[in-house]
This record gives sequence, structure tokens and C-alpha cells, in this order.
Amino acid sequence: MAPAVPEVVLGIDLGTTQARVAVFHEGTVRLIPTSGSDARSMPSALAVDGSGQLLVGTAAISESERAPRRAAMGLKRLLGLRARSPRLRSFVGLPYSVSADPRGDAGIELHGRVIPLTDFATQLLRELKSAASTFLGREATRAVLCVPAYFDARQRAALREAAEKAGLNVLRVLNASAAATLAYGHGRGLARKRVLVLDLGGGGFEVSVVQVTGDDLEVVTTGSDPALGGMDFDARIAEALLSELRAQGTASSEPSLDWGPLRSAAEATKVLLSDQEEALVRLPDGAASSLTRERVEALTADLAQRVTEATREVLESSSLTPQGLDAVVLVGGQSRAPLVRRRLEESLGVPVRSDVDPIGAGALGAALLGRSLLEIESGKPGATVSDVLSVPLGVAERGGVLRRVFERNTRLPADKTLVIPITPGPLSLAIFQGPSPVTAENEYLGALHFQLERQGEAEIHFSLSQDGILSLAATLPGTKRQPVPLATEELDDAAREALISRSPFVTEAKESPTGLFSGLRKLFGKK
Ligand code: ADP
Ligand code: MG
Repeated sequence: MAPAVPEVVLGIDLGTTQARVAVFHEGTVRLIPTSGSDARSMPSALAVDGSGQLLVGTAAISESERAPRRAAMGLKRLLGLRARSPRLRSFVGLPYSVSADPRGDAGIELHGRVIPLTDFATQLLRELKSAASTFLGREATRAVLCVPAYFDARQRAALREAAEKAGLNVLRVLNASAAATLAYGHGRGLARKRVLVLDLGGGGFEVSVVQVTGDDLEVVTTGSDPALGGMDFDARIAEALLSELRAQGTASSEPSLDWGPLRSAAEATKVLLSDQEEALVRLPDGAASSLTRERVEALTADLAQRVTEATREVLESSSLTPQGLDAVVLVGGQSRAPLVRRRLEESLGVPVRSDVDPIGAGALGAALLGRSLLEIESGKPGATVSDVLSVPLGVAERGGVLRRVFERNTRLPADKTLVIPITPGPLSLAIFQGPSPVTAENEYLGALHFQLERQGEAEIHFSLSQDGILSLAATLPGTKRQPVPLATEELDDAAREALISRSPFVTEAKESPTGLFSGLRKLFGKK
């Protein structure tokens, strides 16, 4: 009989700028070589070639060098968002147009086509799966996926769906910072240690406090800024380069033409300046200029400041102090900038460690969890990760406020039942997820519609899986508990308002609505 081939589970981190896949193989956990330029990662880039074919990874980067307008980067943060998502507005200055795909989700316009972001994610995941299968010498089909903490239930479900389309069986979806903590804690034999993990990647910043005992993790709190990452640093530098070129009269009159290559030049220089004081910038038109680290630090000082502020906010919101932490671990590519580390150390007053691979930590941690799931399957002990909900979720009230069903930091999985007194007739509930107390500022997940025949009480059961994905059930008068589908079609403003105006919940107006909102905003630290 042929020896049984050991099962493997891939750990996949589809980052905003780089995608990586790792596996526990022959006794160690390692990143798998892909066809990327840095062979351990694949650019999370998308392009359309002259014949309309979708390209991802290095092929997309090559295409972008030929035809910048046929390529796009930084797309992951848009995955699973609606075309009318309020969060899209925080991604200012996107170098491509976003429009609605056939499902009303954000898609991107390239070369006269609207490309659904799930198509992009599916293709990228297919390439990662294929790189892993080549490396292992057989098809790998099971995976643990990392997501940013700020991903809402819809975005998590969209990633899962894309992975399934790519032929992957997804065992678990977990927050990238929890995965990074697993990679950090692995083999260190920690006992009840409280670790602050900061992940500053290409397109977002995440903060988590995790209690670690051996390979068992309990996330205590998380927070994030989904619009703060390396790409924002690049944009600052590119803007400065552009105004310099304009001052010299060499910039083209149509700046968007030069934006892609200009950003790439800015990024390459930024990376060099993490290790050296001065670097040459190779400008797209063949000219060269030079930049110092000092200048780049001045251009990006406020971004580093936001990193420290977001970190302090998360600690303060959970009544934690830097001194009460056992370790501060910094991961993510942009964390290599000396300015970021310096500002964090100044602000926290404790040393910041970097003894875990800042680039691969997410994928490596996901692969470690994958390996543990296999062990647990075969009856052995394995690592466990108990995560929390990062973004509150609730139902719209008539009056504009979001009635929270699950608060931030609710331990997952979680269940909650809303009991609603009802009369015969229609009943609709609109479900939103987001940090704002104001419904319209959050992400619309979908609606529940019932046609009620009897008077009594309706029980609506909300369940969040361990992965942060929502499912719903209802118990209506005279019926048994039944799963109910979320109507997810996109609604225009008028239809959304009409839906919210039929909510069975009413905001109790102790103050005028505007006074109430600004009061609430202040309370939640929003401008
Ligand atoms: P993501 O997971 O979002 O794809 P990564 O953690 O891979 O992000 O980090 C990618 C970001 O890190 C990019 O913006 C890249 O420019 C930046 N980066 C990579 N290396 C360095 C470096 N040495 N110094 C500064 N920034 C870096
Ligand atoms: Mg990342």
C-alpha cells in the first residue's frame, strides 16, 4: 500500500498589496515560493490586457508598466463593499474608477469594463493555490484565510465565496493580527502573556491585544484604521514628486497619466529609505531626482502620528496601559519605516519588538492554525484562536440610529435574539455593520422581510460564526424557528429610507435628532 500523503492546510494572506501562502510542511512552517518578484509573495494587482483577459500578480504588474491605465492595485479593501458604501469615500484619490458590478457591489473600471472584485480575488487565490500545489507536488485544497479586522460580515463572506470559486475548502477565516500573534507565539512557550500586535500593511492598520498561553490565543480587543497604510505613505511622496516636476515644468498636463508609475517610483524610494538616509528616485520620464529619509519622514509625519493615536485609542478603550503589556509586536511591511517604530516607542514608552517576520506573519500564523485544525481533527491537541467581533452590527431604527445587536469585542461565535411585538402585516428590518451610531454611516448588509399573519412576538435570531459571518433565523407566532435569508440587493436612497422608515424600532428622541447625533458622534470619537 502506498504511504498516505500527509494532509496539509494552506495559510493564505491576501494582503492589500502582497498576497502570500504558507504551509506547515516537513516539520516546519514556511512561505511558499510564488512567481512574484519577491519570490515569497505575489503582488495583489489586477490588470486587463489588450484582448480583455484578466491578469493578476506579476503579470498584472508587467501589464501596468506597459499600460498604467489598464491596471489597479490596493483592491482588497474594496472587496465585498457595495458600490454605494460610505467606506469607499474614505479611500480618497483612488487612481481608478469604481462602479457597480451586476450585484451592486463595488467593481473597478478597467479598459471599459467593470470587473467584480470577487473575480479578482478568485483569480489571485487560484494562482496562490496553484503555486502551493506545484510546491507540494499535489493539489492542495484546504485553507485558512486571513482577513483584516475591519472586514465586515459581507466582506468576509465575499472572500470565502471567492476562495470556494478558486477550488479551496475554507476551514477558517481569522483576523490577520491574530494570525500574526500565532506566528509570534509559536514555540515561545508563553503563559498568560498579553501581547499587543500592530499590523501596518499596505492598505490598512490593525491593532489587537491578545492573551497568549502556549498556542492558545484569546483576542482581548481589536481596532483598526482601514484607510491608513503604506499606500498612503506612497501617495504623500508621489504628490511631493509631482509638485516638484510641475515646478520644473516637466510634468505632463494630465497628472493621472503619470500617477501609477509615479507611485511605484515613490514606493521603491520609500523602501530604500528605511535602510539608508538618501536615495535616488527613478522618475517615469527617465529623469532622476533624490530624496532623503528626513524629507520623507516630514512628508509622512502625520500618518505615523495616526498610527500611534489609533494604538493608544484601542488600549484606552479597554482600560489597558502599555506598561501592562508583556510584549509589543510590530508587523506589516510599512512598519519597517524607522519613523513608525520611533513614534510608537516614544508614544508607548516601551520597546517595540520585531522578532517575527513582519511580512509573512499573517500567512505563517494561518498555516499554523491550519496545521492545528488537522491535529484536532485527528484527536490531538492543537492551537485555538478565540476571536472577537471588531465592528459592531445592528438594525436600523426609525430616526436614524443603529440599534446595536452585537457590540465591538463581542466574543465569537455569538448568538443574540431580538424580540419584537408584532401585528399582522409586513415586517422589515434593515441590518447594518459599522462603528458609527448613525445608521447611514455604516455598511448596509441587507434586509429581512416577513409577511405576518398573527399577532404576538417575533423572535429574530442573529448568529455570528467564529469567522464573523452572519446568519439569521426567525421564530414567528405559531411557527418553529427557521433560517431566514437576508435580502441583499442594493437599494437606492429612497428605497433605503423607505425601508428604514418601516423599522419596528424607534429612536427615542430625548434631543433633537441632530443634537443627538452630534452628541453620539462625540461619544464615539467621530468628527
Ligand atoms: P499588505 O498585507 O497590506 O499587503 P504588507 O504587510 O505586505 O501589506 O506591506 C506592504 C506595504 O509595506 C507596502 O506599502 C510597501 O511599500 C511597504 N513596505 C515594504 N517594505 C518596506 C520597507 N522596507 N520600508 C517601508 N515600507 C515598506
Ligand atoms: Mg497584511
